[in-house]
Amino acid sequence: MSWLEAIHRKLSWSHSRALLFEECPRKYYWRYYAPYGGNAPWETANREMLYLLGRLTNVPMLVGSIVHTLARDALRSARGGHRWAEGTFAASAQALLKKALNASRKAAGHPPRGEGKDTAVLAAHHYGQPFGPQELQAAMERAAFYGRKLYEHPAFQRALENPAGLLAIDSYGRLTLLDVPVLAVPDLVQQEQDGSLRVIDWKTGNGVAGRLDTYARQLAGYALYARQQWGVEADQITCEIAVLQDGSTVSVPVTEETLRQTEGRIAASILEMQSRLRDLEQNQAHREDFPMRPGSNATRGITPIACQWCDYKSACYPQ
Ligand code: SF4
Repeated sequence: MSWLEAIHRKLSWSHSRALLFEECPRKYYWRYYAPYGGNAPWETANREMLYLLGRLTNVPMLVGSIVHTLARDALRSARGGHRWAEGTFAASAQALLKKALNASRKAAGHPPRGEGKDTAVLAAHHYGQPFGPQELQAAMERAAFYGRKLYEHPAFQRALENPAGLLAIDSYGRLTLLDVPVLAVPDLVQQEQDGSLRVIDWKTGNGVAGRLDTYARQLAGYALYARQQWGVEADQITCEIAVLQDGSTVSVPVTEETLRQTEGRIAASILEMQSRLRDLEQNQAHREDFPMRPGSNATRGITPIACQWCDYKSACYPQ
């Protein structure tokens, strides 16, 4: 019997969880319920396979996560009085990527070992697709590029200039709404000399402009948390998206009204998630209550375009 049979997770809300729920309820179910015996006791699909599919990643996502690790480690080090040299950023990003790729290669093809031992697995490794010297070089160049871009970004430089003001660096925070924990992990919360707060999120990739609306909602959630955690008014909070690719910064306005709307939006999202559950107390769900994307027909093998790139395609459309 798989170790996943004994796992039970309580309901919590996060921006990424809500996005998945909006994108495709079945995907949300595969990711947050189906792998765990305690949350989806009726599920007959292979839990280990579903768990594994939820850990798959690609090079842009892996590099994005490495850059976030780099930002966290460099800023925590600066706060401790040790500032990293400029050249360290590109080199460290490449070293972290090398390590992650080695771990992914080793983990691919093996059943997941247990909670807290997760390794992101590159989809190419999982499916045995080519990932040769050319792909490796492109990935290493991408890591070095974003490592440098992080260091050069004005928001990062500004953070380095005032290490004593770095209040929270990639730290888990939470508030409670409708008795459900709402998780917030802002990349950086910085306190200015006048006591106001800046909430900053690092973004990699070139699709930032097309997702500003989503990112604004994410940052508004962090602002809600910051107001509660540090007891400041909305007009003392500034939210910024640091676009690493071109060094620009996009400000997200925060007012009492935005925070009120954000609270309402999160509460509505929680209620909608809860409405799908078979057992609210136990946070248990059944696959039937989480429809596939509109236009899907698993029995006739009809797959909407978006399903072609989905990691759960093999679960929705078994051969
Ligand atoms: S394959 Fe399509 S229907 Fe299935 S989880 Fe993914 S997006 Fe949803």
